[in-house]
Amino acid sequence: MSVSQLAKSIAESPTLKLNEEARVLREKGEAVIHLGAGEPKNKAPINAILSAAAKLNAADIKYTPTDGIPSLKKAVIRYTEENYDRVVAPENVIVSSGAKQSVFNVLYSIVNPQDEVIILAPYWVSYPDMVKMVYGIPVIVTPEDGGFYPRMEDVRKAVSSYTKAIIVNSPNNPSGVVYSEEFISQIVEFCEAKGIYVIMDDIYHKLVFDGKTVPVGYKYTKKDIETTHVIVVNGVSKLYGMTGFRIGWTIASRELVGIMSNVQGQITSCTSVLLQAAAEGAMTGLQSVTESLRMTLENNRNVMMQELHSFTGVKCTKPNGTYYCLPDFRAYYNKSVDLSQLLLKKALVVTVPGKEFGMEGHLRLSYAGSIKDITEGVARIKWALDPSSPNEIYIGDRKLVRDWL
Ligand code: PMP
Repeated sequence: MSVSQLAKSIAESPTLKLNEEARVLREKGEAVIHLGAGEPKNKAPINAILSAAAKLNAADIKYTPTDGIPSLKKAVIRYTEENYDRVVAPENVIVSSGAKQSVFNVLYSIVNPQDEVIILAPYWVSYPDMVKMVYGIPVIVTPEDGGFYPRMEDVRKAVSSYTKAIIVNSPNNPSGVVYSEEFISQIVEFCEAKGIYVIMDDIYHKLVFDGKTVPVGYKYTKKDIETTHVIVVNGVSKLYGMTGFRIGWTIASRELVGIMSNVQGQITSCTSVLLQAAAEGAMTGLQSVTESLRMTLENNRNVMMQELHSFTGVKCTKPNGTYYCLPDFRAYYNKSVDLSQLLLKKALVVTVPGKEFGMEGHLRLSYAGSIKDITEGVARIKWALDPSSPNEIYIGDRKLVRDWL
């Protein structure tokens, strides 16, 4: 079969692949614990359901404007004013099928073949492949100290005359760290001066702990929305635990939004009106949904940290946000793909190899599930790796004996 070289070079999303593996195992009745999940267990907000149900009842399900229904865009504009202190116009907003499509559409609309896009490791798995899909070159910047905080001097060294954009994701998937105000201010000032786009993937910006707030990129530019190189991507998936609704948005200049609309119009026409209605319902309804999600995650994060502390060999930077942490397992295993496979096979625990995020030797563990999942999941990992732990464990109603250490 003759297929595109580029398409062939695009990797399967490892997180989606793991979800599928876990689903198949569960269907077989296996007691799988999913510490790979990027979604919480909450029910969708009632206002989202009522709003979508009203549309469904009216039986008027048609195309919408490509860039989104005006009432959802209005909710996004209000959100932007409240959370970013920026007043933007409807022409600065485009709604897409998830922040994933938003990021892709931004990249498609700004990157020329061979342009470079800087990605800060550890990074969300999809960024490098998305850059490749628009014929760009991903340039990965890894902190020299092996930590999770990017340094401005490393970014400066990676910039060339081909650099078109840098993607900044803070709070960060997979590490959970929140970049400092100093770093955000430096990166925005530097990129504005050089004419490099800063794509701020803010999808986790409300899910922060320990009383922290996330620095807003716009704060460090004097340019208005039409001239700034700061582009903001956000969405309802993580804010309200509405991952299945597939609604994200981008805030950018009118010119760029216009181009992105043309692109989107040729690909999806528009995002489903039902799902846009649901997102609008969530955004105009009770905002305590997000706060209660945030509090649950903070509590879960604390439990995860406590459980990991009992692991002598594991080091973990405490996450200040998101659903994830990225512990270092190199004391046990250097190859994270092999380790993740071993844990799935022997202990029925799903983890995501750090290699996929540019951090070999680490595993991304999610604390978006239940407390029981976290405590039992870590106990199983400990059983599988740590010779000092008891060599028998119950998984479901089966007693397993460790015979490989
Ligand atoms: N950016 C990051 C950093 C993410 O972790 C995710 C989802 N895992 C997305 C974007 C995409 O979110 P959505 O569900 O809105 O497409």
